[in-house]
Amino acid sequence: MQKIEHLGIAVRDLAVAVPLFEKLLNTPCYKQEVVDSENVTTAFFQTGESKIELLQSTDPGGVIAKFIEKKGEGMHHVAFAVNDIHAEIARLKSEGFQFINETPKPGADNKLVCFLHPKSTGGVLVELCAERPGTSEE
Ligand code: ZN
Repeated sequence: MQKIEHLGIAVRDLAVAVPLFEKLLNTPCYKQEVVDSENVTTAFFQTGESKIELLQSTDPGGVIAKFIEKKGEGMHHVAFAVNDIHAEIARLKSEGFQFINETPKPGADNKLVCFLHPKSTGGVLVELCAERPGTSEE
């Protein structure tokens, strides 16, 4: 894995959380994006070579809404950048890790993403993300 690409933080209300994190990080939110496949609206901040991703549910029954119901707002997942997401999935599967989705799907920020099950990663929800072919902007 190359680096921590971003940390995902679950929030109730981006209208409150975005100005808070702009003050905290002293940097403006550079993008907000709805990810229909996850029922979330995301907001991104650049911090050095990593990012902070705030996630607000667009659906009261969505995964982020359920997470906040159970645990409150806060740290939701750690995302690692990988070069070859398919090779990394194969490697982790052969090591016995369990996946929530082992077929990568389009995520926020022009990425292909997949999630490992926290049961197999010490309680941490881990996201793998790779640039989506043909959409790299960095
Ligand atoms: Zn993420």
